[in-house]
Amino acid sequence: MGDLIAGRGCGMAGEHVDLTSEASGRPAPQPTEREQQKFLGVTFACCDVYARIYQNREQTAYVGACPRCSKPLHIGIGPGGTSSRFFTAY
Ligand SMILES: [Zn+2]
Repeated sequence: MGDLIAGRGCGMAGEHVDLTSEASGRPAPQPTEREQQKFLGVTFACCDVYARIYQNREQTAYVGACPRCSKPLHIGIGPGGTSSRFFTAY
C-alpha cells in the first residue's frame, strides 16, 4: 500500500541569502573613552559604600561626596601625586 510520505523537511530548497556585504564605509569604531574620564574609586568608610569621584575642572583634585550621607570628599592631586586609583575615605 502506498506509504507515501510526502517529503517534508526539505524546505531548504533555494535558500536565497543575499548578503549585501558592501563595505562602503563601515561606521568607524568610536573611541569609547574620548577624554578618559579620570576618576578614583573610593570606599566611603562612613557608610561602607563604594563610589567614584571625578577630577574637578582644574584637574587639581578629585572631588565627590558619599552617596549615602553626602559627606564631601576632596583628594588633592599633588606633584608626584598618588598613583593609587583606589582610596578609602575615613
Ligand atoms: Zn557616608
